[in-house]
This record gives sequence, C-alpha cells and structure tokens, in this order.
Amino acid sequence: MSTKADWIWFDGKIVPYEEATTHVLSHTLHYGLGAFEGIRAYTQEDGRPGIWALDDHMTRLFDTMKMMEMKTEFTREDVTQACHEVLRRNDMSEAYLRPLAFIGEGALGLGVRTNPVHVVVGAWKWGAYLGEEGIKNGVDVKISTFTRHHPNAAMQRAKVVGHYVNSIMARYEANADGYDEAIMLDHHGFVAEGTGENVFVVKGRHVKTPPVANILPGITRKSIIEILKHEGYEVEETWFGRDAFYVADEAFMVGTAAEVTPIHSVDRKVVGLGKPGPVTKLSLKLYHQAVRGKLDFMKRHIAVV
Ligand SMILES: *Cc1c(COP(=O)(O)O)cnc(C)c1O
Repeated sequence: MSTKADWIWFDGKIVPYEEATTHVLSHTLHYGLGAFEGIRAYTQEDGRPGIWALDDHMTRLFDTMKMMEMKTEFTREDVTQACHEVLRRNDMSEAYLRPLAFIGEGALGLGVRTNPVHVVVGAWKWGAYLGEEGIKNGVDVKISTFTRHHPNAAMQRAKVVGHYVNSIMARYEANADGYDEAIMLDHHGFVAEGTGENVFVVKGRHVKTPPVANILPGITRKSIIEILKHEGYEVEETWFGRDAFYVADEAFMVGTAAEVTPIHSVDRKVVGLGKPGPVTKLSLKLYHQAVRGKLDFMKRHIAVV
C-alpha cells in the first residue's frame, strides 16, 4: 500500500529512513498528545511536484500545536521548507507527506511540559486510499456504533494523534463487518465524518456537508466547497441525520488520503442509482484537475517545489 521514501526530515536535518527513530519512553507514545498532518504532492503539467494546499495544512498544524500547548523551536516556514526538501531529496513528484510534531523523552506523567517537542516530515507513495475499485464504483460504508468525539472531550479542530483511536475502532468495526469504511455520528446523533474523511450528501442540485463544529475541518472539504460553488452549486453546511444518506441521490467522502471517493451504499442501502452521480463525478474530476494545476481559479493553492 505504501512505498517509503529514503530520507526523512527530523528536527531540521535530513536523515536516512533507518535513522529516523525515537526513544520508547517518548511522551507521545504513552499519552497520544501529538499533532500531525497529511498532505499530498502531485505532478504538475511541467513535471515538477506541486504541494496541494500546503499553507492551509501548515495553519492547521500550528493551530493544533497551539491548542495542545506544544511549543517548538521550528517555525511554520521551517516546516514548510521541510516539506519541499523531503520531496526534493527523495526525488518524488507524487507523494503523501506526513508532518508530525511529538513530545519526546524526558519525564513521564501528564503535567510535564519540559520534554522536547520534535518535528518530523516523512513521505511515502500512496495510491487510492480506499482502493481503485472504490473510486470507480463507490465504497460501502456503515454508520459506526462508535460516536465521534464530544467537542468538549477532544478539540474537533485539532488533528491530534490520540484522536485517531476513535477512528481506528470505527474502521476496524466496519472492516470486520464487511464494509470499506465507517461514518461516525456525533453525540447528538447527527452525521459527523468518516474515520479520516469528511462527507457530502447530494439531492438534486442541493449539496450539504456537516458544519465545522462536530468535524475535523478538512482542507479537501474546503476545496470541494470552493469548486462546487464555482460550478454554480449551492453547498449548505448543516446538521443532518443518517437518513439523509438513505434518501440521497449521491454521497461521497473527501480527504487528502481518500481524495474524492464515491459512496455506493450506507448500511447496505444503495445510495441513489448505485453508481457515482453527476455531482460526485464532477467533484472527482475537478479535484484531480485542481491539484495538478489545471484549474486556473484553484492554482493559488499549489506550492510548486
Ligand atoms: C485529516 C482528517 C480529515 C480530512 O482532512 P483533509 O484536510 O481533507 O485531509 C477528515 N476527518 C478526520 C477525522 C481527519 O483526521
């Protein structure tokens, strides 16, 4: 599924993959307090790599660290340059980049604030996250029995390492039950998101997605809203229940890893006609054009390496 890159950026230096290791008593390993990002680079028309929405990802990474009170000596500019450097050193033009800030070795215990905060940027090749078949015909998802974090238990805006335990439980359950992916509801029973993707529902020309309140504010979600609005669609950010999927014409998931993935069924109830509909196909096509610099109005989101 993934092919690792030979070089990793680790606290300001480029080191070989094998040397990018850490101590078993690293704080994040024990308590899950760490900030991370998932970013993709795509080959642009001139053959050079372009990093999609790097600025937005850096904002979210540093916002996450701020919320988690993680202080690093590395600036936003340092980590931005690190992303560029990792691509250059590994000679990759299409890659998934993984910046991670974690709390290192020193004291253990929850009140500790003196341990060093390390920052790394790794990379690997990652194809269709939910499979090529999923992109073509849609994925089968279930509404998880796991509730998404209460917003007063975990900061929804923060992309935090430990938050993913909830996502992994939901993903394991869905896969064990024969589904490709899970969609989680919030504590009120409203649709929140996939385990690492935001969701959209389409009925006629009306498109809706949950608001930035019970979800991780996805950057792909933001891009899709921008693209669809540009194409003249109304996109409403609102709460809705699982039944919206049952009567939808179309539904799809979006995320840096999943890109745009159509949803074929929810709880074994086939969505719409059982194949990707026009809004899904348009979003998928235009997103792939956007990230490769083929849409003028989206070009400003690309950082060419
Ligand atoms: C990262 C993530 C997403 C997708 O965000 P993008 O910025 O589009 O990659 C959605 N949901 C969760 C829980 C996530 O962690």
